Amino acid sequence: MSWKKIGIMGGTFNPIHIGHLLLAQWAMEEAKLDGVIFMPTGNSYLKDKTEMLSGSDRLAMTRLAVQDRECFVCSDMEVKRGGNTYTYETLESLRHIYPNAQLYFIVGADCLFSIEKWYFPDKIFKHCILLAASRGGAPAIELEEKRRELAKHYGANILLITFPGMEISSTDIRRRCREGKSIQYLVPDCVREYITAKHFYENL
Ligand code: NAP
Repeated sequence: MSWKKIGIMGGTFNPIHIGHLLLAQWAMEEAKLDGVIFMPTGNSYLKDKTEMLSGSDRLAMTRLAVQDRECFVCSDMEVKRGGNTYTYETLESLRHIYPNAQLYFIVGADCLFSIEKWYFPDKIFKHCILLAASRGGAPAIELEEKRRELAKHYGANILLITFPGMEISSTDIRRRCREGKSIQYLVPDCVREYITAKHFYENL
């Protein structure tokens, strides 16, 4: 891959939805990235497991969601690695595979307030620029203060971007499936068809 500025859109993607895709698109344009690698987690150890599909099912949906965009690709790295998913491990692997590229890890901006609890935040900040998208959570002034604090403490390079945001969540999509409601326009059609064919989330 010849990309020099690579976005990484990590997520549980249970399921992937239009909000995730728009965020990746927005981040790509804001930071002038060459493309974005979508990275479904293996085991999101902080998430409730009651409605969790397997890594291979979430990977299949993510692959479908990005299949028609050349600048979006999907990686099976975290699903294949197995065990709990730690972002620092993924970034270390990607740094090894793409030694000359700049990595940008794309997250919702409220993650700035929890990332210090992730495994080895210092290694995360060493290997990437954090592209943090504010979508109406914490006020801009608090985000800027936190950005400075993380920069001072870890040498973190954090790029804050404003994302118009959409009130779509995977939790809500799963609930709609359970209730027999439509998820059209919330996920790409190919993902919706896959969810319907596999009867995902209906009886969870
Ligand atoms: P997720 O729920 O599937 O969400 C993925 C990303 O999309 C998040 O950054 C989320 O931001 C954003 N998002 C969700 N809904 C959106 C919407 N409507 N519009 C725009 N953006 C939206 O995945 P996740 O479980 O939060 O995990 C995110 C990443 O963090 C994964 O790569 C995971 O491995 C990593 N993580 C790592 C550790 C660790 O290394 N120890 C711990 C926790 C998470 P919001 O958070 O603002 O919803």
